[in-house]
Amino acid sequence: MTSYNYDLFVIGGGSGGVRSARVAASLGKKVAIAEEYRYGGTCVIRGCVPKKLFVYAAQFHEHFEDAAGFGWTVGENSFDWTKLIAAKDSEIARLEGLYKKGLAGANAEILETRAELVDAHTVRLVNTGKTVSAKTIVIATGGRPNPHAALPGNELCISSNEAFDLQELPKSIVIAGGGYIAVEFANIFHGLGVETTLIYRGMEILSRFDQDLRRGLHEAMTAKGIRILCQETLQKVSKQDGHLLVETLNNGALAADVVMLALGRIPNTEGLGLETAGVKTDARGAIVVDGYSRTSVPSIYALGDVTDRVQLTPVAIHEAMCFIETEYKNNPTTPDHETIATAVFSQPEIGTVGLTEEEASKRYKELEVYRAQFRPLKATLSGRGEKMIMKLIVDASSRKVIGAHILGHDAGEMAQILGITLKAGCTKDDFDRTMAVHPTAAEELVTMYAPSYRIRDGVRL
Ligand SMILES: Cc1cc2nc3c(=O)[nH]c(=O)nc-3n(C[C@H](O)[C@H](O)[C@H](O)COP(=O)(O)OP(=O)(O)OC[C@H]3O[C@@H](n4cnc5c(N)ncnc54)[C@H](O)[C@@H]3O)c2cc1C
Repeated sequence: MTSYNYDLFVIGGGSGGVRSARVAASLGKKVAIAEEYRYGGTCVIRGCVPKKLFVYAAQFHEHFEDAAGFGWTVGENSFDWTKLIAAKDSEIARLEGLYKKGLAGANAEILETRAELVDAHTVRLVNTGKTVSAKTIVIATGGRPNPHAALPGNELCISSNEAFDLQELPKSIVIAGGGYIAVEFANIFHGLGVETTLIYRGMEILSRFDQDLRRGLHEAMTAKGIRILCQETLQKVSKQDGHLLVETLNNGALAADVVMLALGRIPNTEGLGLETAGVKTDARGAIVVDGYSRTSVPSIYALGDVTDRVQLTPVAIHEAMCFIETEYKNNPTTPDHETIATAVFSQPEIGTVGLTEEEASKRYKELEVYRAQFRPLKATLSGRGEKMIMKLIVDASSRKVIGAHILGHDAGEMAQILGITLKAGCTKDDFDRTMAVHPTAAEELVTMYAPSYRIRDGVRL
């Protein structure tokens, strides 16, 4: 029988890789994991966690303004970017330490190096050139920002990676992109006092979300003072008199201190030795896997963003747990990518789960749409104009709630709980039978008794 150095070798110390390595090691497997940058990966070091910390930071100026309506006089205030960066750095260093501690505690060997495939069971550790063998290999190398190489002057632009570590807060920024990362950063920078322009080539920001929420958020962001230019593209970025000049297709040239590109992410598969090992990739460079996250080479699995299925941290972790069930618990398990609740940490926030109205009207014969738009209680005294939108999409024949969409404060928190109800297949009658929690914004979800409108055969009645 062939003997290997390890039962499992994991390439990439992010959300999916660390979970695979830690749990396999805790089951008594001999495991090594290699990370070329910092343990914790995108989510912890330059994604979800620092982003959410920035979101909190950006919300304070509205809190200060809102306080006046409740009788408070908030004294003079100012914001120190370098203090925020230092506090964020210390928190992510703490989390990085916890990730390593978890791995070490489970007896996984922690390697601080880039690793590349040599063949179906062999990996080369780039810092030493040494090769090691493993019975099973997991590739969890994530992705990186698309640099938009075709854009003249793209080297002058930053991506979300650099946005987390800017030396100083710019006075003005142009952000290109209409996905959640672009939208979140537009809100973050605007909230911190930066003159912000968002440029997106599509008709409306956040293309995969419910149209109502997309429009509602667009209006709310514009009302705050964020300039949003849809159906617009960057043509060229150049340096001029100490700032950057962004040439656009329809709006002439815009000056900005910083230009950030948030135009999607590319799977980290270049130079990984995939071809030599026989691991297939698709046209975008993502690793092709079967339902169990197994690649075209049976001893090699791939999971998380590198497979370009659903690019979210909980999904990478779930895929890792399914891998563990399949490989080490004799319980073949396929990841479930249906009905994933998710949030956009814009201001106001979006929380969503299930089908959008547009998707649902293509798949179902008849729908009932319950929709409420209202001013939250806090806004009555603060005077803030923002409106909340809540929407339930119901399949008229089965009465199942197949989509729930919220725009407003704590929408992400609500989406998590709604995710359970949609996953459980709850019907609108279950929602109706549920007692409201009063006074909350969420009570609206169980008190929308009559449909706002119906959609039959794709047509709104
Ligand atoms: C700005 C931003 C905000 C985000 N916000 C959210 C959010 O709010 N909620 C959410 O769910 N998701 C969010 N995401 C997405 C989330 O971060 C990813 O889906 C998640 O991190 C994917 O995990 P992963 O394990 O696949 O890859 P990653 O976490 O990217 O980890 C891959 C790791 O592999 C390492 N690596 C790459 N190649 C090699 C190699 N050859 N050898 C050794 N190491 C290597 C990398 O350095 C990296 O640390 C955000 C992403 C970004 C960029």
